[in-house]
This record gives sequence, C-alpha cells and structure tokens, in this order.
Amino acid sequence: MKRLFTILMTCLLAATILTGCGAAGSTAASSGEGSGRLQVVATNFPGYDFARAVCGDQADVTLLLPPGTESHSYEPTPKDILTVQDCDLFIYVGGESDAWVDTILSSLDKSANTLKMLDCVDTLDEETTEGMTEEEEEPGEGEVTEIDEHVWTSPANAELIVQAIRGKMLELDPGNKESYRANAEIYLQKLDELDGAFCDFFATISNKTMVFGDRFPLRYFAERYDLNCYAAFPGCSTQTEPSAATIAFLTDKVKSEGLTTVYYIEFSNHLVADSIAEATNTQTALFNSCHNVSQQQLDAGETYVSLMEQNLETLKATMK
Ligand SMILES: [Zn+2]
Repeated sequence: MKRLFTILMTCLLAATILTGCGAAGSTAASSGEGSGRLQVVATNFPGYDFARAVCGDQADVTLLLPPGTESHSYEPTPKDILTVQDCDLFIYVGGESDAWVDTILSSLDKSANTLKMLDCVDTLDEETTEGMTEEEEEPGEGEVTEIDEHVWTSPANAELIVQAIRGKMLELDPGNKESYRANAEIYLQKLDELDGAFCDFFATISNKTMVFGDRFPLRYFAERYDLNCYAAFPGCSTQTEPSAATIAFLTDKVKSEGLTTVYYIEFSNHLVADSIAEATNTQTALFNSCHNVSQQQLDAGETYVSLMEQNLETLKATMK
C-alpha cells in the first residue's frame, strides 16, 4: 500500500506539473470543464446513486469505481486522484476497503468537502457468525474488530446518508437549495417506502434465517429486519475457499432450517453457494449488496432502490 501510494503521488505530482493544474488551476477544473456546475465524486455505487438523486441536473456526479469491477480490489489511478483533488464534494465509505482515501485526503486540504458514509449512521462491528471461514490474522495482529462498512445495505441508513448529502449540497451550492431539497424529498420518500415494504414482507415470514454461500456484507440489512444470517466469509473477506467445516455447517443449516435457497452476492462466482445448493437439493439466488453495478445495469438506469426492489422480489419468491 505504501509503495503504491508513493507511485501514485509521484504520478499525481508529475501530472499536476505537466498540466499546470496547481492551486490556481484546480478551481477551473472543479467547475466541470466549463459546465459551471459543482463536481461530486463518489467511490462506490450507493454514494454515487444517492448523490445523483439529490443533485439532479444541478451538479455533475461521477462514480470512481469502474462499473463491473469488484470494489474490494479497486485501486485508484493517478487520474482518479486528480478527480478527487479537483472535485467539490467527495463521498466515500471510510472503511477498510477504501483505506486509500485517508492517505490521499491527508495530503490534500479537503476536509470541508468530504462526506464519509460511516459518519452518517450508527455503525456496527463486522460480525463473524458461527461457521464462517475467517481471514488468517497476520502475526502480532491479535483480535481486531473492524467496523462493518456496508452501512448502505439498510434502506433506513440510506435515508440518513441522503440527508447528509442534501446538507452538504445546501452548504456548497445554496443558490440551488430548492432543487436539492425537492430532489432529496423524492428519493427519501422512495427509500421510506422500500424500508416499509421490507418490514411488511418480513412480518409475514415465520423463519427469518438466510444462508449466504458467499461473503456477508449485509449486517445492517439483517439487523434492521431482525434476520438470522449465516455465511461462508465475513463482509469484506478476500477469502474464496471456505473450510470444510464451513461448508458442513452451512449445509446442515440449510437442511435443519428447511431452507429452499442459498444466496450469493453480485460479482461472485457463486461456486460455494452452488455446492451447498447441490448438496441440499435447493436453489441459489442473487442478493444485491449494491457495492457496484455492471456497465449494463448502469446503462439500464438501475438505482439503489431498483436493486433493493429486486432483492425484495427474490425474497418473496424464496422465503416463507
Ligand atoms: Zn465490502
């Protein structure tokens, strides 16, 4: 990480010198190639989606994570760093998977123009539930509890993040405050309805147990609706090979709970879910954790709300 950062900063400095885009030039760049509109940049899809809902036509919103890529393996390019440097509002998660942000922000004076999603909600620690295959700890690391960074997976948290983005936009661009307020109101209404629809659905479910043959980035979702979830790996694990004990535990869980479905998340090869489903004669289904979307989904205009609505339909078809 340190070496990567040195390379990036060297590139950044070179690029800054070459384009003459120093302190004086950055103001011009931040007004969006002459559009005059504020430039908002978000690291992941939820931040991007919430920001574009609030900004509407009043500001340009950029997603840093390339569509179709797995967010945990993302590393910023020198161009990305310049984009962050030049933007008017930078929205990031603040967890372990975008730890690179802290390094960049400490070298830029941007504290007023950033929004950290972890600061918008009550956070929970990343949980290791029974049966999970854990990451091997590095020597001397000891027990480390990480904050679970997937705060957006609860629609109620999504509302808090949208409100925080609205607050930032009102501060940064008071001239368009009526638009930001109206746009935010529309999206908050949708999120509220989404949350209500999940509450109504889960109220009808007798067994709220879910098994994920995958990573588990859905703790906030599970807490919100009081679910019992089991998974192969913790939320941001880079592990792909579950232990035999994990497979055995999850297989038993599916059988003993009489479940019909093993879930997997987007951009997963779902091999683990497949093998548990095969062993238990059940089916698999995708559950969107909304870290990122494919280019096709982006082009089709998918939003956080539409992806979560797909999740609701999936649950309706697979839980009873
Ligand atoms: Zn994650």
